[in-house]
Amino acid sequence: MNFSGSVRSKLPGVGTTIFTVMSALAREHDAINLSQGFPDFNPDERLQAAVDKAIRSKNNQYAPMAGLPLLRERIAAKVDTIYKATVDPDTEITITAGGTQALFTAIAALISENDEVILFSPAYDSYAPAVTLAGGKAMHYTMDAPDFAINWQQVKKLITQRTRMIVINTPHNPSATVLTEKDMKELEKLTKGTDIIILSDEVYEHITFDDKPHQSVLRYPRLAERSVVVGSFGKTYHATGWKIGYAIAPRELMAEFRKVHQFNVFSVNTPMQYAYAEILQRPDLYEGLSSFYQEKRDFFRTAMKGSKFELLDTQGTYFQLASYKSITDEKDTEVVKWLTKEFKVAAIPVSVFYHKNLDQKIIRFCFAKENETLEKAAEQLSKIK
Ligand code: PMP
Ligand code: GLN
Repeated sequence: MNFSGSVRSKLPGVGTTIFTVMSALAREHDAINLSQGFPDFNPDERLQAAVDKAIRSKNNQYAPMAGLPLLRERIAAKVDTIYKATVDPDTEITITAGGTQALFTAIAALISENDEVILFSPAYDSYAPAVTLAGGKAMHYTMDAPDFAINWQQVKKLITQRTRMIVINTPHNPSATVLTEKDMKELEKLTKGTDIIILSDEVYEHITFDDKPHQSVLRYPRLAERSVVVGSFGKTYHATGWKIGYAIAPRELMAEFRKVHQFNVFSVNTPMQYAYAEILQRPDLYEGLSSFYQEKRDFFRTAMKGSKFELLDTQGTYFQLASYKSITDEKDTEVVKWLTKEFKVAAIPVSVFYHKNLDQKIIRFCFAKENETLEKAAEQLSKIK
């Protein structure tokens, strides 16, 4: 079919996401897919059984707009236990279709024409287009490899009268670093006495390593009172395809969030919400996640020892960054295609997360995979001389 009119794109610089492109290329070349971030194993049997039970108990119609009350209550109880944060499940939590929808809805609801939004680059790919669609302007702070540290004095220079939001992400995709208590205190200082809203993407909250605590904004009352926190059950329960997440925010912000939420999704998948409400009574499932993934991280790093890749530190998430400087100085976007076609392992080029496509010769591997998948991939990658 051909549209005969002229198309005025709202996102002229945007193509198809790198995750879609690389997963398709992996399929095409029958390569091991360590590109897009998702596990190659199933959610816990008890979670699957809970979905089954919810479906068979006739819980298949629209859920309440803000999400199943029981699930919201259990999320509130959980953040009270682990972050010592008091959140009202009626007015301060909304269940969303994954973290992506929560991020998009928060930006659509809270950003207006000409508002400025500070993003830390490399940034998860959905933030900047959402800001653009809301009529806002993304202001980028660049974090450099290998430590991706933030100099808060430099961040301060980006703040103007128009700054409406700062988006943070810890544990961070793609750098696999985590923010520290010191970072949070700096952020507190920076935003004190301002109207700036913090959008805190914490979808990897349960995946931190070497006993590093996750620094949720919910631990810091002065940050929590100006924040929208985004969570995702997909990461925590090995169910990225179920697309259930949530947003937590003070009631005034949540009221605006829900005005948008009710018209772009209205409500999300009912049986899955029942299942998550049930599984949240088993804290052992998320408490064990860091050590589960730390073993995978270490397994993959050991298996990669024989390769020419230089591995960066991984403090959290299920991603491992690797520098290929000693192999080639080709662009990372070309290198990932070459690896997929010639060595049958797909990865993500890190430059695509930078607003200016900064190429530091680093690619990202996802280690949320069975050990034999990781072993096979490392074996293939070790063939590169
Ligand atoms: N934020 C980050 C940093 C992510 O890596 C992802 C997805 N991998 C999301 C948000 C989106 O989460 P969801 O899949 O629940 O939409
Ligand atoms: N967040 C996942 C990643 O970073 C992918 C999500 C997606 O495909 N949109 O790989």
